[in-house]
Amino acid sequence: MSEGEGKVRGRSHGSTPEVRALAAEAVRHLWWLKESGVGEVPAPPPRPAARAPAVPPPRSPGTAPRAPASPAGPPAAPPPEGPGAARPPAAARGAGAPAAYSVSDRGCGSDALLSVRRELGPCTRCKLHGGRSTLVFGVGNPAAELMFVGEGPGAEEDRRGEPFVGRAGELLDKMIGAMGFRREEVYIANVVKCRPPENRDPEPDEIEACEPFLKAQIAAIRPRVIVALGRFAVQTLLRDGTPISRLRGAWREYEGVRLMPTFHPAYLLRNPAEKAKAWEDLQRVMKEFGKAPVRRGGA
Ligand code: SF4
Repeated sequence: MSEGEGKVRGRSHGSTPEVRALAAEAVRHLWWLKESGVGEVPAPPPRPAARAPAVPPPRSPGTAPRAPASPAGPPAAPPPEGPGAARPPAAARGAGAPAAYSVSDRGCGSDALLSVRRELGPCTRCKLHGGRSTLVFGVGNPAAELMFVGEGPGAEEDRRGEPFVGRAGELLDKMIGAMGFRREEVYIANVVKCRPPENRDPEPDEIEACEPFLKAQIAAIRPRVIVALGRFAVQTLLRDGTPISRLRGAWREYEGVRLMPTFHPAYLLRNPAEKAKAWEDLQRVMKEFGKAPVRRGGA
C-alpha cells in the first residue's frame, strides 16, 4: 500500500494516529522538497497491473464517486502536457517506463493527488479537450486546509497550465494574502480542467465528465473549507440556480466539506464596489480558521 493510499484509507478506516502522522509528515516533506526547488523525486518501481493507481476512495460512503475511466482507459504511460509537466518524451524514457506524472508535477504533490492525475491522463472524455493547449489540473499544497474552486481555465491559464494566473489570479493572491494565507499554502482548482472556447460556460456534459476529478482531488486533499469563486462554480457545485448575489456569504457543504460561496476575482475587477462583500465572505472563512477579522475594506 502506498503512503498516499495509507493516508486516505487511514482516514476512512480509523488507522492509528502514528500512521496518519507519518503520512502527513511524508506529504509535508515532499511539499518542502518541491518548494526547495527539487524538480524530481525518484519514481518507485512499476507496480503490478492489479495495483495500478486509482482515484482515492470517497470521504465517506457515497459522497465522492470514483472518477470514471475513459471508455478506452488511459494509456499506460500518458504523455504529460503543459509547462507544469515538462518531462522527457516517451521515446526517450523507453518502453516500460513508469507513468509520466510524478509528485513534482504541478498540483500532484501527494500520492493521492498523483493517482487522480494519472487516472485523468491526457484526457479526452469531453469535447473541451479539442481546444485546450494545456490541461490545467490544479496547483498548491496537497495537504491544504483551504481550497479555492473556480469555473475553468481562461486563456492565460490555458497557456501557462496553472489556474488563476493573470489579473484575476493576482487579485485572488491578494485575497488569499489578506486572509493570512500564502498561495502556496492553499490548493486551487477548477470545475473543468480544459478551457471552454470563447470562455463560454462549461456545458452539462462537460461538467458531468470532469467534476468527478474535482471530487477526487477534494477527497485526496481533504480541506477544512472550500471557497467557491463565482456564479458558475457556486451554482454548479451546489446544484442551485439561485443568483450568486444571494448565495454568497452563507455556509453550504460540498462533498462533506464546508463551502463558502463568493464572487469571482474577475467579477470583482469589473465591479470593485463588490469587493467589500467578498471581503465579508472571506472574513467568515478566516473566523473558521481562528484568524481574527480585520477592519478593512476590499482585498
Ligand atoms: Fe477531460 Fe475535464 Fe478536459 Fe473534459 S474538461 S477533456 S473531462 S480534463
